[in-house]
Amino acid sequence: MTETARGNLFILSAPSGAGKSSLINALLNIHDDIKVSVSHTTRNPRPGEQNAEHYHFVDVEQFKSLIEKNDFFEWAQVFDNYYGTSKAAIENQLAQGIDVFLDIDWQGAQQVRKLVPDVKTIFILPPSRAELEQRLNNRGQDSQEVIADRMAQAKSESSHYAEFDYVLVNDDFDATLKQLESIVLAARLELSAQKVRHHPLICDLLN
Ligand code: GDP
Ligand code: ADP
Ligand code: 5GP
Repeated sequence: MTETARGNLFILSAPSGAGKSSLINALLNIHDDIKVSVSHTTRNPRPGEQNAEHYHFVDVEQFKSLIEKNDFFEWAQVFDNYYGTSKAAIENQLAQGIDVFLDIDWQGAQQVRKLVPDVKTIFILPPSRAELEQRLNNRGQDSQEVIADRMAQAKSESSHYAEFDYVLVNDDFDATLKQLESIVLAARLELSAQKVRHHPLICDLLN
C-alpha cells in the first residue's frame, strides 16, 4: 500500500493584473487535487465576487480580532487594505496530500518562506507595462482611481521578483499555464515525496 505524501505549498505573486487569479483558476479546473487558499480581506467585493469563494470579506475590526486570536498564518497590508491567509485554510489540505496555492503579495511570501522553508514560490511578470494597464482596464472591475494606484505600485511589487524560485512571463496564457503546471508536476517528483509515496517499492528493491 502506498502512503500519502504531504501536499506541496506554492505561492503565486505578481503585480495586480498580471494574471495570477486567471492562472490559478485554470490550473484548478484541470487538477482536482490542487486547491487555492481563500484569503481574508478588508477590501470591498468586486462585482461578481462571492464571500467564502473569492475571499472571506471582513471589516477591519474582525480582521484585527483574527490577528489577536493568532488565527493567521500570514497577513499583510496591501494597497489600503488588509489581506491574510488563515491557518485553517491550508493545514488540513496539506496533511491530506493536496497541493495548496497561496495568491499572496511579496510581504506574505517573505513571512511564509520563514515558516515553510520548502515552499515553492512563483512570480508572474506581465509582458509589458502597457499590457498590464490594458489588462487592468479590460478586467473592468476596478475604478480608474484604483487602477492608477495599482499601476503606481506595480514597479515596487515587481522589484521583488528575484526573491522567488520561478519567474514566468504571462504573455501567451496557455503557454504560461503549461509552465505553471510543469512546476507543480515536477515538485511532486521530488525525493522527499517520492520516498514516502513509493516506500514499499524502495524497500523491495533495496532488500
Ligand atoms: P489582484 O492583484 O488583482 O489579484 O487583486 P486582489 O485584490 O485579489 O489582491 C490584492 C493583493 O493582496 C495582491 O498582491 C495579493 O497577492 C495580495 N493578497 C491576497 N490575498 C493575500 C493573503 O492572504 N495574504 C497576503 N499576504 N497577501 C494577499
Ligand atoms: P491578477 O489576479 O494577477 O490581478 P487576473 O487573473 O485578474 O490578474 O488578470 C487580469 C486580466 O488580464 C483579466 O481580465 C484576465 O482575463 C486577463 N489576462 C490574464 N492573463 C492574460 C494573458 N496571458 N493574455 C491576455 N489577457 C490575460
Ligand atoms: P485584489 O484586491 O486585487 O484581490 O488583491 C490585491 C493583492 O493582494 C494581490 O497581489 C493579492 O495577491 C494580494 N493578496 C490577496 N490575498 C492576500 C493574502 O491573504 N495575503 C497577502 N499577503 N496578500 C494577499
